[in-house]
Amino acid sequence: MDYYGSKISKLIEELSRLPGIGTKTAQRLAFHIINMPEDQVEILSNAILDAKKNIRYCKECLTITDKELCPICSSPNRNKKQIMVVETPRDLAAYERTGKYDGVYHVLHGAISPMLGIGPGDIKLKELMTRLQQTDVDEVIIATNSSLEGEATAMYISKLLKPAGIKVSRIASGIPVGGDLEYIDEVTLLRALEGRVEL
Ligand code: ZN
Repeated sequence: MDYYGSKISKLIEELSRLPGIGTKTAQRLAFHIINMPEDQVEILSNAILDAKKNIRYCKECLTITDKELCPICSSPNRNKKQIMVVETPRDLAAYERTGKYDGVYHVLHGAISPMLGIGPGDIKLKELMTRLQQTDVDEVIIATNSSLEGEATAMYISKLLKPAGIKVSRIASGIPVGGDLEYIDEVTLLRALEGRVEL
């Protein structure tokens, strides 16, 4: 690929490391960037650095944000007594896109997977338990993916919470097995939420 000269090749190479970006897309993006006005390129590269340097976990729900509390947790319009447990910040975003959920979230940053050696201690479960001890909660909605790992995680959480007398529900199936929440349309997500069953 060196016929572009090493600096351009380097840019293409770095871009192609990004998920979902193949060599062709990386080339297209690289040439787009090269043709952008320099101040635009600076805004882009600063935005990347700025996001990276200021990233942190929300103190409450552990989603990724740049403040102590994320916008959802700091909103007075959200019902703090309803906590939806999701695997990733992208799943949170998927449910936010429905615009119909007014509770708050808890982001696990993963799911239990004995096959991959990911145990309960490797995801943000301890944080969920601590949070539930400190807050008065009406319902915990488990919205992990319908993959093997997501189901195992849901089962584990439910076993952990039931003895504490906390109402635990699981979003309805209807979400294709193995389906990642982030790729599912809003209508299906909403239907799964509305059809949730108590565990
Ligand atoms: Zn938060």
